[in-house]
Amino acid sequence: MVNPQTAPGGGPLLSYTRSMVEGSAGWPLQGDYAIWSGNLDQNASPYLLHELVGQRVLPVPISSGRAILHPVTRSTWFEIRHLFGYWMRADVDTVWLDAPGENGRYYTLCIGGSDARPGEVSYGWVCPQCGTLFGTATVDVAAEGFQTFLNAAEDGVSRFNVDEDLRTCPQCRHVHPLTYGFDQARDTDATRQARMAI
Ligand SMILES: [Zn+2]
Repeated sequence: MVNPQTAPGGGPLLSYTRSMVEGSAGWPLQGDYAIWSGNLDQNASPYLLHELVGQRVLPVPISSGRAILHPVTRSTWFEIRHLFGYWMRADVDTVWLDAPGENGRYYTLCIGGSDARPGEVSYGWVCPQCGTLFGTATVDVAAEGFQTFLNAAEDGVSRFNVDEDLRTCPQCRHVHPLTYGFDQARDTDATRQARMAI
C-alpha cells in the first residue's frame, strides 16, 4: 500500500488534489497536512471563521458569490462557528477555503504544510462578553497525530458543559453558554442547539 504521506518515488508528497464536493468523514492526512472538507446546503447557517486579536473577535467575511481562501497564521487563535465550538491554535499555518456552489457552500480546512507539524495544538474558550481567552489546554499531536487533539477537545467540551465554574470568565464572571465539539454525531439536544445558535 502506498503511504499517503510520501510520493511514489519517496520524499514528501508535494502534489495532490482533493474534491471539495465529496467532503471527508474525518481528518485524513495528506503530505504534511491534516485536511477536513465538508459542505452545507443553502438553508444551513454558513460556517463563520473568526480570529482573536488581543481581546477582539474579528470576523473573516464569508464568501458571497465568490470563493475565498483565508490563511490563519500559526499561533493565531481562531474558531469556525457552527463547525466546532471551541477556539483553536496550532503551531503551523491553517488555510480556510469557503466556496459557493450550485447547491450550497463547500469548505476545506488544511492545517500543516511544515515537516512534523502540527506538533502542538491548543483549544480554549473566548468570553463572549469581554473577549478574554480562558480554559486553554495544549495537546501534543506530534506522536499520535491530529486526531489526538480532536479527542482531547471533545473531552474538554464535555467537561466544560457540565461545570459552570469552568464556563465562568475569570475576568468579568460572565458564564459562557454551552458549547459543542467538532463531531456532530456526538451532539446532544443541548449541544445541537448551541451549534445552531447565532
Ligand atoms: Zn469575560
